[in-house]
Amino acid sequence: MDKTKIIDGKMVSDLIKAKVTTEVNEIKKKNHRVPNLTIIQIGDNKASSTYIKNKKITCEKVGIICNVLTHPETITEAELLNIINQLNHDSTIDAIIVQLPLPRHINSEKIINSITIKKDVDGFTPKILGNLMLGHYQLLPGTPKGIMLLLKHYQIELAGQHVVVIGRSNIVGKPLANLLINASATVTVCHSQTKNLSFFTKQADILIVAVGQPKIITSEIIKENAIIIDVGINRDQDNKLCGDVDFENVLPKVKMITPVPGGVGPMTIAALLENILYLYYQNNNF
Ligand code: NAD
Repeated sequence: MDKTKIIDGKMVSDLIKAKVTTEVNEIKKKNHRVPNLTIIQIGDNKASSTYIKNKKITCEKVGIICNVLTHPETITEAELLNIINQLNHDSTIDAIIVQLPLPRHINSEKIINSITIKKDVDGFTPKILGNLMLGHYQLLPGTPKGIMLLLKHYQIELAGQHVVVIGRSNIVGKPLANLLINASATVTVCHSQTKNLSFFTKQADILIVAVGQPKIITSEIIKENAIIIDVGINRDQDNKLCGDVDFENVLPKVKMITPVPGGVGPMTIAALLENILYLYYQNNNF
């Protein structure tokens, strides 16, 4: 494999983690309160449990406290709102995550919106997303932020480049498209209703894929020397982790590409760690 083409998210995320670890050690040396992330899990969705476990392990590795509060599927919306309200007012907690998806009887948007902006570490509340659109960056949602950090680390030029983003979710595609526009890229957003997807993908200098379907992108539908960012996390027929891009097939044609695993995934977690520290400093007058 031509390693010079690989955009190594694991390596870049390790650099960020090392920086966060140093900062947390400084906090501890000063005997200040240690930063705290609290995650709420409703029910026992297997994928959610894995994501939460990864976040907890990573936080603890860098010295951040991560508490996980688990509640049964039967919890009511009012009870959950009450729990979030208590966490919003708890001065020992810097950051709150409500792990999605939530059970059907709970309005996810209402729950996310109830997290105070001061502790919205995922950056999914309307004010943070509105600020992002306007180019007033404070805290950014983890995956879009992680991708922007990765592009910056590899000095990938965005101004004037045609970036095609596939996927328009509120947590990846939409915020990312706005960040890219603000970085002076020419941005096209494609989604499930896009007619003739390959017409757009073939024009992309940079192609960012956040769909959730293995091998939706093959070498036939990309531009020669394109840069590919694969956000997807899927399982192939052998239950192996894979992205949305047919990696082996496109590798000879691309300029650079993120692997799955080891690309965007670790950057999302690194961005989360930076966000926890950001909120910690914002909410404390140390
Ligand atoms: P989502 O299901 O909310 O959105 C998927 C998007 O893909 C939608 O906007 C939909 O319109 C579009 N889409 C579906 N089928 C399509 C098709 N045939 N052609 C073009 N567009 C199509 O998903 P999401 O939360 O944005 O996540 C997308 C993928 O990224 C998933 O695999 C998810 O697991 C992964 N993800 C990875 C990270 C990470 O850290 N690496 C973070 C978030 C999400």
